[in-house]
Amino acid sequence: MKTIFPVDFQRMSVHKDSQAMLRRASEEGIETVWDRLAKQEPQCGYCSLGLSCRNCAMGPCRVDPFGDGPQKGVCGADADVIVARNLGRAIAAGASAHSDHGRDILEVFHATAAGETTGYQIADEGKLKAIAADYGVELEDRSTREVALEVAEAIMEDYGTRKGSLGFLKRVPAKRLAVWQKLDILPRGIDRENVEMLHRTHMGVDNDYVNILLHCLRTSLSDGWGGSMVATELSDVMFGTPKPVSSEMNLGVLKADEVNIALHGHNPVLSDVIVQASQDPELLNLAKEQGAAGINLVGLCCTGNELLMRRGIPMAGNHLIQELVIMTGALDAMVVDYQCIMPSVTDVAKCFHTAVISTFDKAKFPGAIHITFDPHRGIEIGKEIVRRAVQAYAGRVADKVYIPGEPIPMMAGFSVEAIVEALGGSPEPLLAAIKDGKIRGAVGVVGCNNPKIKQDFGHVQLCRRLIENDILVVVTGCAAVANGKAGQMRPEAADMAGPGLAGICKALGIPPVLHMGSCVDNTRILVLAAALANQLDVDISQLPLAAAAPEWYSEKAAAIGTYAVASGIYTVLGVQPPIFGSKNVVQLLAEGLEDVVGATFAIEPDAERAASLIRRHIEVKRRELGLPYHDPQTIPLPERGREKSPAVA
Ligand code: SF4
Ligand code: SF4
Repeated sequence: MKTIFPVDFQRMSVHKDSQAMLRRASEEGIETVWDRLAKQEPQCGYCSLGLSCRNCAMGPCRVDPFGDGPQKGVCGADADVIVARNLGRAIAAGASAHSDHGRDILEVFHATAAGETTGYQIADEGKLKAIAADYGVELEDRSTREVALEVAEAIMEDYGTRKGSLGFLKRVPAKRLAVWQKLDILPRGIDRENVEMLHRTHMGVDNDYVNILLHCLRTSLSDGWGGSMVATELSDVMFGTPKPVSSEMNLGVLKADEVNIALHGHNPVLSDVIVQASQDPELLNLAKEQGAAGINLVGLCCTGNELLMRRGIPMAGNHLIQELVIMTGALDAMVVDYQCIMPSVTDVAKCFHTAVISTFDKAKFPGAIHITFDPHRGIEIGKEIVRRAVQAYAGRVADKVYIPGEPIPMMAGFSVEAIVEALGGSPEPLLAAIKDGKIRGAVGVVGCNNPKIKQDFGHVQLCRRLIENDILVVVTGCAAVANGKAGQMRPEAADMAGPGLAGICKALGIPPVLHMGSCVDNTRILVLAAALANQLDVDISQLPLAAAAPEWYSEKAAAIGTYAVASGIYTVLGVQPPIFGSKNVVQLLAEGLEDVVGATFAIEPDAERAASLIRRHIEVKRRELGLPYHDPQTIPLPERGREKSPAVA
């Protein structure tokens, strides 16, 4: 299949490894996500504005944004209701994805506590005790397994309806809890809020767009302070809480003389046993018998981030690299769990020798080998998968192997615990630096790639502008990989930062952009924000903090952005969400929420302007806290489209 569109590889990605593979795709006629986006153009205007509805069989319906055509669906729903319902369903889908991931971890944790698994353990007892305290589980005179079992059962209750509140809400600062109580948006149960969103958005249930948007906040909170937090915390208990670790990133982490296995998706329960299996002497011998020098594991997307954070496994790349990594001809197996795995990977794999191995019964891929994950036989299944990858190596064609670029060194592993330890055991030094203005504030830059934006441009440019202006940046998900590949996550990157931030980074030996983990690990940002607010006895919304998702694509990112705002954190989106069909919905999300939760969304595709908006917001918060500040209006807001591509490898 030939690509039929003119290609300018430098407009598609800031990275040379991606550009090299895009050139190969073009030359060899292999279709990529960029080609498919071009074929979809122009995308549907009604859907882009959120004005189409297919929630029932009287439809599908659409509302005319220009006012000439129909202004209501068949049932009578107007633009406000249709846009709010569509947004609510997207948030529920994203929150469900995170929360179901959390449940999968919880079930493995429960089985491990019951002694029923192979390959898993309680790796961080301190973290288990901290969670036990949140859930009121007694520690005295009890074995670790007894505590773990009771914690698992208490968290399972959070998924249902029997308690009416979540255990991790104990971590929320009192002032923030009061906001949620006043609005009646305290999340009651993780599954409950998602199911209720689907109920409310059925035809003829919630026909008040404000009421739907309030439930959007509650649903997202059941993710951020519920399902995602379960995933992060229990992964830490079983696999260890991350500590600073050095590693490498980009396609150069593939090795021409070894069996290369990419671990792709989000859930670390399988990939962690694959790490153990890849060190098995029998399998290493098998690889040698096939002529390979060893077995090389690399990460993609958030399964990769989980392994990078805890094991230092190098990252091949983020979301938009998943088809390109197969085109190196050096990837013997891509092992996938779930989320963000394009169905197209099996099509690309057909052009090479790569075995795509799917592992979760809820995420099957036609054309893939399916090996069902079962934690009771974790290690056995891990070895079976590695064996398949080694066997696939025999089919590698040496002439087709092309691994572009040298790996970029970087540092990961900055859990909240690791950051506090780097600061000497308390967040106080960070607060002191914020108070005296050496660090103006902190920003979480998170989220995906989206082929509508040059790959990683939004992440890299925004983060660079922020650190240049003494703003500490924490990153997760695909944003983290973008920064790592751009060299912004090495301790030496302190030289890219402003003098205040640079001095602190150099003193602590840390980069100015800190990798906090996978997408579910955005909860680490919530925990850090809560700790800073508690230390100052203020609400999260009063802190000089912000969040940004410059290249988001996923419904999960919609849930993340919403729980950030609901938690009091101003959030800038780089890709326009489908809400602009309703002026009322836009007004409420971009302005009205300020009076309700103390934070709003902004939508700004231009990274330079996004940086200015965030800098202005941080200075406003500094002024309101009585800290030294720069007049926000003196921070220039550049014209759109003047951004230059950052220099990266
Ligand atoms: S719920 Fe209303 S607007 Fe939506 S498809 Fe049915 S009739 Fe049309
Ligand atoms: S950041 Fe987005 S694209 Fe990347 S792994 Fe997470 S949800 Fe998927």
